[in-house]
Amino acid sequence: MTTGLPGAGAAAGHTGVPFVWSFESGRPGPHVMIAGLTHGNEPAGQAAVLRLVEEGVRPLSGRLTLALVNPAAAAAGRRFVDRDMNRLWRDDWLDGDGSSVEAARGRELRPIVRQVDVLLDLHTTAFVARPFFVIAELAKTRALADRMAWPPTQQLMPGGCVDGRHLTDYGRFADPDDPAVAVTVECGTHDATASAGVAHAVARRFLEVANGPGPARPNVSIERFRTGEPCIARTDRFALRIPTTGFVGVRKGDVVAMDGDRPVIAPADLVIVSPRPDPKAGQTAFLWCERC
Ligand SMILES: [Zn+2]
Repeated sequence: MTTGLPGAGAAAGHTGVPFVWSFESGRPGPHVMIAGLTHGNEPAGQAAVLRLVEEGVRPLSGRLTLALVNPAAAAAGRRFVDRDMNRLWRDDWLDGDGSSVEAARGRELRPIVRQVDVLLDLHTTAFVARPFFVIAELAKTRALADRMAWPPTQQLMPGGCVDGRHLTDYGRFADPDDPAVAVTVECGTHDATASAGVAHAVARRFLEVANGPGPARPNVSIERFRTGEPCIARTDRFALRIPTTGFVGVRKGDVVAMDGDRPVIAPADLVIVSPRPDPKAGQTAFLWCERC
């Protein structure tokens, strides 16, 4: 996981905050940010961000910031060191946690993130090869995802994340009346070699439309899924009975998993998203979801 991680202050545009690069165009415009490695076990986002740094990408207007969010976790070969870096983005949580590596990094990044008008956070998943957006169900996030139009699959999260606050939920991003907007894109599986190329292509597409309509992508059929209730594992012996590829449609009455000796039965015709590998009792095993 540490392969390819440069020195904390490598390359032009370095901000003084480790693994954050920022470029001012000198012309008015939004502050656009691309983040990767919010989870330390997701090297595709890291590869995409570092490739953009190496390519010398620069904003035509406004400011562009490129950041690796949790390099300490990557260096440790882990998803996170002390706590999930994508569940703690609330000021009182960041201020109230004086001990975790992640809260300290959040406080270090916060002054920059607060200035950002348009943010893309690049992730990958355990199982799902198809790239897709994960977005708060707000008009502004839907508009940005629609403008990008790629990937064409959108997972909408009404009310936000069920077990914490994403980076993309931080501050102004969660305020429906503030124009600042942030989206997450899952760019394939953690281990697939293709995921880094997908993440880079998503980032390039994001840069085309972050500051306005940009060139259209023809022949894209956008599909949206609205997340509903989480399925919480009751035992440590939770086993899915359906493919783990994500966005799997099930019919009312289908046995979709065994939770210990108890069958988990679909309460309606639904779609299953975000399957978690080997969930423990009390953890979210997957999310029930509806097409919308
Ligand atoms: Zn992630």
